Amino acid sequence: MDAALRQFVRRRADNHCEYCSLPQEREPLIFHIEHILPRQHGGTDTPANLALACHHCNLRKGTNLAGLDPETRVLTRMFHPRLDDWDEHFTDDDGEITGRTAIGRATTHLLRMNEGGRLELRAGR
Ligand SMILES: [Zn+2]
Repeated sequence: MDAALRQFVRRRADNHCEYCSLPQEREPLIFHIEHILPRQHGGTDTPANLALACHHCNLRKGTNLAGLDPETRVLTRMFHPRLDDWDEHFTDDDGEITGRTAIGRATTHLLRMNEGGRLELRAGR
């Protein structure tokens, strides 16, 4: 993956984590260029398979493709930043991310978006 492609992904995401919406400026660790479909599952370096992710989201996502909806315990695919609309699946209330849909709930839960100080970091506190 070359520097131009990395820069393209960062710009397309407006320097926000495409999962939890954290802006890069609030996080000292440089965000990762993440494979939406992990390489382990055949994912490639094409722009359509890449997303910008904070280290917290990327490390928890790992090679997961799905998670359990904490409300129904039904296996549900992860949020896909290229195919899904963030506002359809999540709300951000002063930094607290809540899933609006099964996909949003499963992704919020799997990535533990509101744990470990992430909520405060997003809210700028
Ligand atoms: Zn994130």
